[in-house]
Amino acid sequence: MIGGGAVGLSTAYLLAKRGVDTVVLERNQVGSGASAGTACMITPSHSDRTASPAALKDGLRFLLNPKAPLKLRAKPSELAWVARFTASSLSEERAEAGTVLLRELALRSTQLHREWSEELGTGLVMNGTLNLWSGPDAEAKRAAVVADARHSGLAIEELDAAQIAALEPSVRGATHGALATDDGHVDSLRFTECLGEGVRANGGTIVEDVEVLRIDRSGPRIRLATTQGAITCERVVVAAGVWTRRFAEDVGTSLPITPAKGYHVEFDGAVSDAQRPIYFTDAHCVATPLDGRIRIAGTLEIGTDPESIDMRRVDALREAGQRNLDGVPDEASHIWMGQRPLSSDSMPLIGPLPGDPRVIIASGHGTLGITLAPVTGELVADHITGDADATDPLLDPSRFR
Ligand SMILES: Cc1cc2nc3c(=O)[nH]c(=O)nc-3n(C[C@H](O)[C@H](O)[C@H](O)COP(=O)(O)OP(=O)(O)OC[C@H]3O[C@@H](n4cnc5c(N)ncnc54)[C@H](O)[C@@H]3O)c2cc1C
Repeated sequence: MIGGGAVGLSTAYLLAKRGVDTVVLERNQVGSGASAGTACMITPSHSDRTASPAALKDGLRFLLNPKAPLKLRAKPSELAWVARFTASSLSEERAEAGTVLLRELALRSTQLHREWSEELGTGLVMNGTLNLWSGPDAEAKRAAVVADARHSGLAIEELDAAQIAALEPSVRGATHGALATDDGHVDSLRFTECLGEGVRANGGTIVEDVEVLRIDRSGPRIRLATTQGAITCERVVVAAGVWTRRFAEDVGTSLPITPAKGYHVEFDGAVSDAQRPIYFTDAHCVATPLDGRIRIAGTLEIGTDPESIDMRRVDALREAGQRNLDGVPDEASHIWMGQRPLSSDSMPLIGPLPGDPRVIIASGHGTLGITLAPVTGELVADHITGDADATDPLLDPSRFR
């Protein structure tokens, strides 16, 4: 397994449980990538295909606003990715087909999250996601979201201002709410660390501080060149998040995954008594209660410098928290930036290479990697243990050739 994030470790956990000799190679430490600082939502209700006509419209709408929650820039090195993403976003039909599959996968994954919470003590809380609206269009916007969720068979309840106040007393000013009760939340770093412990407890091995440099498929066994020497194996799973694309040449297929940068700000202490993730729809950000603190996470930047922090967007998250919740102070306790691995059609890449089933890709989960990590593990483990049906064409890693 290349990569010790939520996706790699979910897969390794299931493989180890099924008795497969499993070694995870992690460049830094377990949970040091995108899985560390997410909004922590396990969310069938937000499992929509990002590449859609709506995303293009939002991209254009927010183009000139430095505090906007979405930024799509055609940086020269990412031009090909942006062109592909734009082309993938034009069809309403493809967006809908993607959303149907993602929601189905997310529901199965939520069931696995429940089981793993029992097995590993991940701390999953199943209190739903509260979505909030205010302003003149609130009624219509909520109606569209509620109709869409119900169309997919998801459970969602409409709330008025008094019901919102009763459910979440620290919320300010929202007139319309919708509680998606199939959703939950889990501290994504704790989840990832618990999986690491689960891998070890089931006989798997995790090696940290080792970077895989190359995948050599020329021999009867796969040979991995690493910073700690060569390793051979029967199969390799590439679950290196946004860094997966560096292996495209080695595996002989295009892996168009780009960093979709996001941030969180955290406030320690009892700044809110929130019981569930609260999604401020206008600001496109989420406030999630975690042990002794609240985290406000959001923004999606494509084509910007993946390592830099844009403080204007960080400030926008804090301000959105202060506008919408009581008790959010001026000074954040922590600021974090992470890179979502977003594929150019925004669907994950899960499955073996068509010409070489020894190599399995498990990456490109974009905004949904924590939600979908367990079901990804299940799909990959099924391929390895021979229990899988054919790869779904919408997830097939070779679809970008
Ligand atoms: C602000 C923000 C909020 C988010 N909120 C949510 C949310 O609420 N719900 C949700 O479902 N998702 C959310 N996400 C998305 C989620 O973070 C990702 O989809 C998910 O973490 C991807 O997991 P991963 O295991 O594929 O990648 P990562 O967690 O990035 O793990 C990849 C690992 O591979 C290692 N690695 C890379 N290259 C090598 C190499 N060559 N050799 C060895 N190791 C290597 C890295 O060090 C890293 O640890 C959010 C993301 C962001 C940025």
